[in-house]
Amino acid sequence: MTCSAYEVALCVLHTLEKAGYPAYLVGGCVRDRLLQKEPVDYDITTRAHPEKVMELFTHTIPTGLAHGTVTVLMDGHAIEVTTFRTEEGYSDHRRPDRVTFVTDLTADLARRDFTINAIAEDCRGERFDPFEGQADLASRVIRTVGEASARFQEDALRMVRAIRFATQLDFVIETKTRSAIAHNGSLLHTVAVERVTRELEKMWGSAQPAHGLKAITELGLWNHLPPMNSWEGKGKDLPVWMVSVNSITSPYQWWALLLSLLQVPVEHADKRMRQLRVNHKVVQEVALRYQLAYSFPAAITERRGKKLLLTHGVSAVLEGCELAIVLRQLPSSLYPSFQRWKDELVVTHLSQLEINGGCLRSIIPRPPGPWLGNTLDELLLRVACAEIPNEREYLLKEGIRLAKTYS
Ligand code: ATP
Ligand code: MG
Repeated sequence: MTCSAYEVALCVLHTLEKAGYPAYLVGGCVRDRLLQKEPVDYDITTRAHPEKVMELFTHTIPTGLAHGTVTVLMDGHAIEVTTFRTEEGYSDHRRPDRVTFVTDLTADLARRDFTINAIAEDCRGERFDPFEGQADLASRVIRTVGEASARFQEDALRMVRAIRFATQLDFVIETKTRSAIAHNGSLLHTVAVERVTRELEKMWGSAQPAHGLKAITELGLWNHLPPMNSWEGKGKDLPVWMVSVNSITSPYQWWALLLSLLQVPVEHADKRMRQLRVNHKVVQEVALRYQLAYSFPAAITERRGKKLLLTHGVSAVLEGCELAIVLRQLPSSLYPSFQRWKDELVVTHLSQLEINGGCLRSIIPRPPGPWLGNTLDELLLRVACAEIPNEREYLLKEGIRLAKTYS
């Protein structure tokens, strides 16, 4: 029988305790379990030093020995085990100059960002909550551990994390924490783009990402947040509708909405997405949806709509259509039309045609050129729209005729 991640985490806690080292679940997993949510992963904090952790378990990865982190692999699960530590220095507002292993759990909890992330729980379920994170969970509040400005000056990313957690959990940011963000926003220029992107990606996965965009806008952070601080638009006005939009669900669409909010011209979408250091596929998918959203005609014929679906793929066109409706107030009837056209398509891909490029080239004595692709695309469109049958003989004859019209 395989164990759940939670059971494995408990087993790691037991092993550490039995060897004489206090050990606790900590951070997101404790928070999420208290909120009756399934934790993404389990983190453990312990008095044991990394070498000891590596000795006690058979399969480990030295993930970040200098920072005290060892990943324990057990039963198909990966549990991060980190030695109690404090952090000092932060002269660059993002990384501690020094990490010191300590023997005291409270000192380790004190370095954590928010009270709700600074609760520890041992293998018997006993909780240690010196910063009253459970009270903040109950009143649904994001509050820094310690003085907010000082904590943001240590690591400016925490300001974005505050907004991300508030968005994900539908919490409010406590007043002092919020005003410290408004005052310290300019420190954000020190933060690495990858870290900002990771927080935004987590925000896109929440129920109402627009709440996060609203908070970033209201707190004036676009001017400071890399890489957006170098972009043309500064997101001064978040359109009111965006906060309640419910037709936008995919992360690609949220990136596209962000581009729109920051007034990125369509021809710069690619470049801007690359600056966010997302992978190549994300760059392409977002840029395509963004470009589609701004190029849809308000009134579109069935044939043209079906051609778009065949050329760009169903999900890109449907998502681009939803974006066009919200961003350009195009009639919402456009979306069901596309859904119907999608359902009506007889074929959706060249590979489904009864002939291929090789067949055409073997009967048409022409050097390869654009004519070949154009002919196949036109045949695909006609078959997809049920204008001609998907039959080999028919397609070859029609192909010969069509090829003559292309260079
Ligand atoms: P998620 O569910 O998104 O993984 P999480 O709370 O587990 O949320 P992580 O980024 O995985 O967040 O970090 C794990 C824990 O490490 C946090 O709960 C917090 O205690 C601490 N932590 C992470 N980043 C910071 C930071 N920048 N400053 C202070 N503490 C941090
Ligand atoms: Mg986590």
